[in-house]
Amino acid sequence: MLHATIADQLIKVRARIKHASEKANRSATSVQLVAVSKTKPINDIAAAYAAGQRHFGENYVQEGVDKIQSLTHLKDIKWHFIGELQSNKTRPVAEHFTWVQSLDRLRIATRLNNQRPKHLPPLQVLIQLNIDNEPSKAGISLAELPEFVSAVNQLPQLELRGLMVIPMANPAPDKQAVSFRHCQQVFEDLQQQHARIDTLSLGMSNDLEAAIQYGSTMVRVGTDIFGTRT
Ligand SMILES: *Cc1c(COP(=O)(O)O)cnc(C)c1O
Repeated sequence: MLHATIADQLIKVRARIKHASEKANRSATSVQLVAVSKTKPINDIAAAYAAGQRHFGENYVQEGVDKIQSLTHLKDIKWHFIGELQSNKTRPVAEHFTWVQSLDRLRIATRLNNQRPKHLPPLQVLIQLNIDNEPSKAGISLAELPEFVSAVNQLPQLELRGLMVIPMANPAPDKQAVSFRHCQQVFEDLQQQHARIDTLSLGMSNDLEAAIQYGSTMVRVGTDIFGTRT
């Protein structure tokens, strides 16, 4: 996509975040924007970086690591792994990413902890929560959350920062509100119990306004920055 187009799209997304934040009586700086660049070329990432974007999300290990290694000259860029992670692919993620948002298995958490290089800061992690109990979706159930939180908190090379949630796609507005409110409640409960929890990653291109209304502190936006994926 044209550099100018990506810069324009970013301006629009930032304006939506600002507007939604104001409506919710929150400061726009309380919501972090992660630009989801999966399947998009490194030129598109460089264009977004030039337009001030610093946090990027990738879903596939090899694609993500290739991009990270091609863009090491872009200082202070932060890479978030947001896709499904298999246990035989944890090492490159532990070595190259700053964040993992899709943590949902202790086996994966343990491997990431052991494989995180000691010279790097702890890996910043979010637990992926399957809030609507959708069988097709990754993430742990609410019932499993407390035990999983305790286990992850024991791992010194991981720093648990909060939750990542993908609520049901395109529900009726009232159903969406129930689901988003539920995310907010679970997040606030977790925050009360654990001092370092500060991140609710909730909201994408289609639903970032609702997410911000219900307390999201991080939105993951792909399509509305980089265009549709093929
Ligand atoms: C692809 C993806 C996104 C971005 O979705 P858009 O609808 O393109 O904004 C956000 N989060 C996750 C986990 C994704 O896989």
